Amino acid sequence: NYHVRVPIKGQDEVAALGRQMNLLAESLLYYQSSRKEFLTHVAHELRTPLTYVKGYAALLRRADLPAEDARRLMGIIYDQSDWLECLVEDLIVLSRLDEGKFALSKQRVDIAPVIHKTLEEMEPFTAEWGIRLERNLVPSVRIQADVNRFRQIIMNLVDNALRYSKPQGKVLVELFRQRGEAVIKVIDEGIGISEVEVNRIWERFYRVEKSRSRKHGGTGLGLPIVKHLVELHGGSIEVESQLGRGTTFVMRFPLADAEEECAS
Ligand code: ADP
Repeated sequence: NYHVRVPIKGQDEVAALGRQMNLLAESLLYYQSSRKEFLTHVAHELRTPLTYVKGYAALLRRADLPAEDARRLMGIIYDQSDWLECLVEDLIVLSRLDEGKFALSKQRVDIAPVIHKTLEEMEPFTAEWGIRLERNLVPSVRIQADVNRFRQIIMNLVDNALRYSKPQGKVLVELFRQRGEAVIKVIDEGIGISEVEVNRIWERFYRVEKSRSRKHGGTGLGLPIVKHLVELHGGSIEVESQLGRGTTFVMRFPLADAEEECAS
């Protein structure tokens, strides 16, 4: 008889190894199921607008269709394709973020003029919707930022604030320094978010009261992207909201040169 002597590990080590394997298996399962769920969700999101586009395009092929009806159908097709384009763009950004392939090219920038310019560009929309877009920005606040991505963060939050505002409402963007950090607030007096739902807005595809939000045309991917981008800048984001009263998003970023900034 031939015996192979296998070194037996201590009981504690074996138990610890077992726990680790379990954890690994669990997280793999979680990853797989959440990935599957995500894919199912993506497929559903894509299907609805595609059904419209295909269906209306088929109707358009009918020779006896009055010109006015044709124009209306083309309008719907355009809107649905536009929606599809937004969705696909958001999905691409999210998957690149997930894969860690989203390279930021950060530099030390004064974000006051960046925010100012971004808001200026959004003004045509606010006029159209009858909403006042106001700002209160302290000058010379420098952080390490990728200007384009930083602008995307501001645009997303302000766009939401405008979309979920009440008619004739007001949106205020504030920038100031506090305890070595740059603080940006996006404050609206809009429809607000209930206490139950406010914790879920960071989830992918989550929309409060889906039918209502859908009318406003969001993908439900905006905030997850914003959060990711804020964190890539070393910052944090929080939300305070009261149903029917309004919502405030608060972001904090480390100042590029804290001591100089505090002294100024
Ligand atoms: P969407 O593209 O649908 O706006 P987001 O990820 O940007 O997706 O936001 C998720 C949900 O959070 C929105 O559908 C909306 O219900 C809610 N929400 C976001 N911002 C606001 C806001 N400023 N006021 C009220 N609700 C908001």
